Amino acid sequence: AKLSGAQIRQKFLDFYAAKNHQVLPSASLVPEDPTVLLTIAGMLPFKPIFLGQKPAEYPRATTSQKCIRTNDIENVGKTARHHTFFEMLGNFSFGDYFKEQAIAWAWELSTKVYKLPPERIIPSVFVEDDEAFAIWRDKIGIPAHRIQRIREDNFWTSGPTGPCGPSSELFYDFYPERGDDSIDLEDDSRFIEYYNLVFMQSNQDSEGKLTPLEKQNIDTGLGLERMAQILQGVPNNYETDLILPIIKTAAKIAGIKYKKSDEKTKTSLKVIGDHIRAVVHLIADGVTASNTDRGYILRRLIRRVVRHGRLIGIEGAFTTEVAESAISLSESAFPTVRERESAIKAELEREEAQFLATLGRGEKLLADIMASKPKQISGEDAFTLYDTHGFPFELTQEIAAEQGLTVDEKGFEAEMAKQRDRSRDAHETIDLTAQGALSQLKIHPTEFLGYTQPDSSAAVKAL
Ligand code: ATP
Ligand code: MG
Ligand code: MG
Ligand code: MG
Repeated sequence: AKLSGAQIRQKFLDFYAAKNHQVLPSASLVPEDPTVLLTIAGMLPFKPIFLGQKPAEYPRATTSQKCIRTNDIENVGKTARHHTFFEMLGNFSFGDYFKEQAIAWAWELSTKVYKLPPERIIPSVFVEDDEAFAIWRDKIGIPAHRIQRIREDNFWTSGPTGPCGPSSELFYDFYPERGDDSIDLEDDSRFIEYYNLVFMQSNQDSEGKLTPLEKQNIDTGLGLERMAQILQGVPNNYETDLILPIIKTAAKIAGIKYKKSDEKTKTSLKVIGDHIRAVVHLIADGVTASNTDRGYILRRLIRRVVRHGRLIGIEGAFTTEVAESAISLSESAFPTVRERESAIKAELEREEAQFLATLGRGEKLLADIMASKPKQISGEDAFTLYDTHGFPFELTQEIAAEQGLTVDEKGFEAEMAKQRDRSRDAHETIDLTAQGALSQLKIHPTEFLGYTQPDSSAAVKAL
């Protein structure tokens, strides 16, 4: 029988518990580290230990950490393997075991616990890490030509200075029959990275010079959804038992079938399935929608869920129903999602209602603009939609793109700048706090960095 997501999680934790790792609960998505907006990796809660700022309570630990990576948002529903919200399973050594042991256990876990065929596993090492290369070749027995030496992506640093080290990534090969001559780990139709082992062995000084660390550490991450994809034999993370039920709920509300849908509809369903998990866990961890920082990320995620719901034909409010599906899938591993159920649903209801009203107005205005068959949506129009009607700029771009139109982004920025000047002159009517934040805003239409998105408090008041 195929392993469920819950079994894959449990087997990882049990495996490392049996190797004397302390099993710790997932930390909050809201990190203690004030320099990071959201928990992006399993190591984040342990960063002070790795940096030597805090003693380790245990020499070894293992977790299944809730993570959110907003930098992967554009990949959601497009690649088979990227989410905003995902679980990273990790084993950590704080000055205890090191490279050889970490590699041996990663191999044992992969081949004995998850029973991956050895000939389907390809390890990568940092180009200069002859030690890791030799361990894979001599201790594990991987033919040398299969071990990939890679520079980019295989060196971890915590910043310009501080602890750092090479990493070794494990990839699964979906098509070993294509042969060893054409191994290209960038080819994601053939390979998927599932496990990353970081060997923290050096300290980097301000001149870039590396000196060996007195206490070497191990930091690893294995993507739960990716292992589920591999072990459940499905074509992407979304069709695993961790997410597919949410997608089916959304499809049912839309009156469609996921499997019978075209690619565009499938992408929308995947976006909904992905984002609603992020939303549920963010609210469970105490985040509320707002116009700054993580509150803004939450708001953008909810809006994208609503927007994609409309793209697949859902007209009314639906987010609490898909959230319920996400809660019931998550509650056994993360009981707070059920404890926080009413807060989650109340937040969703409010945000969704506000945004639906905004969308209705904005979409109509935009349709009128596009009806006159312009070559491009002008910066002025995009700005009016945004400033007067609270219609997000990215949405104007998205909708315009659906009609094969672009938006004059420079023109939009110019209007934003004019607005800032006007605001400065009329400061008695301006909320100075928001204005301070506004002046730092930059437009990154393709990036999802909530706190740098253009969205003035005026726009939100208009919602
Ligand atoms: P990729 O190269 O595929 O983007 P990564 O190298 O950025 O992955 P790491 O930072 O090494 O990922 O994270 C450790 C593990 O967490 C990965 O090997 C993968 O299994 C999982 N992971 C990373 N990012 C995501 C994501 N956006 N969605 C789902 N799983 C992820
Ligand atoms: Mg990545
Ligand atoms: Mg990678
Ligand atoms: Mg990696």
